[in-house]
This record gives sequence, C-alpha cells and structure tokens, in this order.
Amino acid sequence: MDKYSVKCLQCGEVHDSYSLNCKKDDESLLRAYYASKQLIPTDMPGIWKYYNWLPVTGIIEDGSGRTITYKSENLALAIGLDDLWIAFNGYWPQKNAYLMTCTFKDLESFPTMQRLREQEDKRIMVVASAGNTARAFAHVCSITGQPLLLVVPKESVHRLWTLHDDNHSVCLVTVEGDYFDAIALAGKIASREGFVNEGGAKNIARRDGMGTVMLDAVLTSNELPAHYFQAVGSGTGGISAWEASMRLLEDGRFGNTLPKLHLGQSLPCAPLYSLWHDTDAVDAACPDGMYDDVLFNRKPPFAVKGGVKDALEATNGSIYAVSNKEASDAQELFENSEGIDINPAAAVAVATLIQAVKAGNVKSGEKIVLNITGGGQKCLMQDHELKQLHVSLAVSAKDEEAENKVIKTVAEKFGV
Ligand SMILES: *Cc1c(COP(=O)(O)O)cnc(C)c1O
Repeated sequence: MDKYSVKCLQCGEVHDSYSLNCKKDDESLLRAYYASKQLIPTDMPGIWKYYNWLPVTGIIEDGSGRTITYKSENLALAIGLDDLWIAFNGYWPQKNAYLMTCTFKDLESFPTMQRLREQEDKRIMVVASAGNTARAFAHVCSITGQPLLLVVPKESVHRLWTLHDDNHSVCLVTVEGDYFDAIALAGKIASREGFVNEGGAKNIARRDGMGTVMLDAVLTSNELPAHYFQAVGSGTGGISAWEASMRLLEDGRFGNTLPKLHLGQSLPCAPLYSLWHDTDAVDAACPDGMYDDVLFNRKPPFAVKGGVKDALEATNGSIYAVSNKEASDAQELFENSEGIDINPAAAVAVATLIQAVKAGNVKSGEKIVLNITGGGQKCLMQDHELKQLHVSLAVSAKDEEAENKVIKTVAEKFGV
C-alpha cells in the first residue's frame, strides 16, 4: 500500500501525489490521506521525526529543524493560565530548537523541496515572498543545490539572509514596487516552461509540514489541546493545524475534541478578520502600517473548500485583530517572561491569546497551545554570522522588459 493518497475534498477524486489542484473542482483543496492512522515518531533528524505523516518518500538529511514544545511557567502565570504550552519555531539551543531561518517556514520548505527531488524534477522553483518564506527556501536550496528563483520587493531584501557562504543555487531578483508587483512578476515566470510554483496553501507538503507544529505539541503534551493560537496572513497554518488535529483525533490516543482555532491578524491590515466577521478592516495603504507585513496576504484561501472558513467552522474557532500597541506590549511580555526574542508576527499571536483570555474565551485550566511561529533571531546572531543573499538582478515593476531580463539572468546563472 502507498504511504499516502491525495484526494480532492470536493469530488473525492484520487489524484497524482504531486498534483496541486483538481481539474474539476478548482475551488477545493486537495488533501493527503495517510495509510498509517497512528502517529509514529521516527528518530530521524529535524522535521523528519514526523516522516510518517509527511507526503514524502525520502528526506533531506541536513539542515532541518523542528518545533520544540514546552510548558510555559512565566508567561502562563503572567496572564493567568495553568496549562499553556508554547510550540516554539526558531533558534534556541537551550531548548534544542534549530530552525535555522528562525521561522516555521522551514517546515514548509523542506518537504516541498524533498518532493521536487523525488520527482527528479529539474524545474526551477519560483518563490515570491516578502521575507520569511524566501529565506526558508534559500536555506534548503543552499543545502540541496536545487535551483531557486526568489522574487522579492526591494524593501524586503534585508530579510534575505542565510548562514550559508555560498548561495550558488539561489537567483535573487528584487522588484522596485510593492509585494503585489513581485507576486505578479513571479507568477508570470512560474507559468513558463522550466519553472515551478511553490503552490502556497494548495501544496500539501506546505500544509502537512506546518501541521507538524500540532503533532509536536500533542506528542509532547500527550493530548489534543482545547485551544490553538496562531498569527496568520494566509491562514495556511490554521488550516494545517486543523488537518493535523483531525488525524490525531482519528489516531484515537489523544482525545476526541478538535482544538478550537484562534487566529490573529494585525491591524490595520486584517483581510481574514474582515471576511470572517463581515467587516472592513483593511486599510487602503496596506501592508503599510502593520506590526509585521509578513502577515499580509491579499487573497487568503478563505472560502475555498478545506480552507480557513471551513477550519474555523469545524473547530468552532474565531479570528481576532490586534493593534500595533497590543502586539508590542505582548512582545515585551513574552520576551521578558520566556527569555527568548520572538518574531514580530509571533507577538501578534501572543496579543491574540491575551485578548482571548480577557474576553473569557479560554478558561485558566484549559489546555492551550500557542504557536510561536518565529523566534530566536537575536539569539542566532550571537552565535552565527548572517550572510546576506547576493542580488542577481534588480528590476522595476514598470519595466516592460522585466520578465525577459529575469529569464536572461536565470539562464546565465543556471546555464539553462
Ligand atoms: C508566514 C508567517 C505567519 C503566517 O502564516 P500563515 O501562512 O498565515 O499560516 C506567521 N508568522 C510567521 C513568523 C510567518 O513567517
């Protein structure tokens, strides 16, 4: 029997393992169904501990980390909770946390690139990102040597570092313009022959990679939590947490209630919050003015079958919106109480938790998992030197020749 099969959530059709969408039902996600109904952790490194519920048939030996879950004492005490578990994604050697780009995007990039290897796919991966995703793909491709084209807004280029000296497999293009200009340009290139798109929320490797956060939290704490908190942009992490919870429910050993999703967005740019609450909390200047613009996504997978809306309805969850002041207060509280620096996006999750406690949406004795989606960059910088990625080409979004220039640069760089 195969390790897993891939099915359309709308029509149930079984697809090729590497398919990203159903031809019949474009408004539905595909999902992986694993032959093993029980979570069996392995002793393989990093994320591959959860190999049994990842849609891969091999691993990338080096460089992957995983979530580290521990029970909070100080933050829990400060906000009046008795059973708060922190699922930490980042760099924190004291806790054995080694996600080397300091966010949970590493959990997506490793399985995604592993699957490309399995297909012996020589196409060039194209990633458009304002930062954390780009860094995670640059990291894994520097290890595997797979070619990667990163298209990023010029303003985000400072976020593009790795620990690798040699990024020969990464072609970095900066776009003068906003994030949408970068996405549009990347989209055009990815649709050409010889290139492949990472697929976003449609990619089961990204979702099940992120789902390992829930697997780790439940395996460590022995039981499904009552509540799960995460800061979201696309909401893919929320969908992933729900899918992982369903599998754990079916496993039978970890409880019989799905954790309630509490997803947090950053004001003034909260499109998912707006969709869920039927309001308008998206400023015209977005993503300007956000506490962390990695949380902005103009077209989140909300209404698609198996998307954010379904995840919230199935878990009786909700979406919150937090102000910059709430986020910065929460960041300070977390860092002082837990003793590690966190990514600003993760502070939005902490602020969401604080809101939920104040609103009485969670009770002090209930088991709660707080996903710290990124952290430890300051800690990493004390131990390692960050190396900026070399820019291969800078283009303007207004330049009609931009696409051709990128193709030419890629051809020179990779000899294709
Ligand atoms: C991408 C990201 C998020 C949001 O993830 P979703 O795709 O919306 O689930 C949150 N925090 C950090 C640090 C991120 O990089």
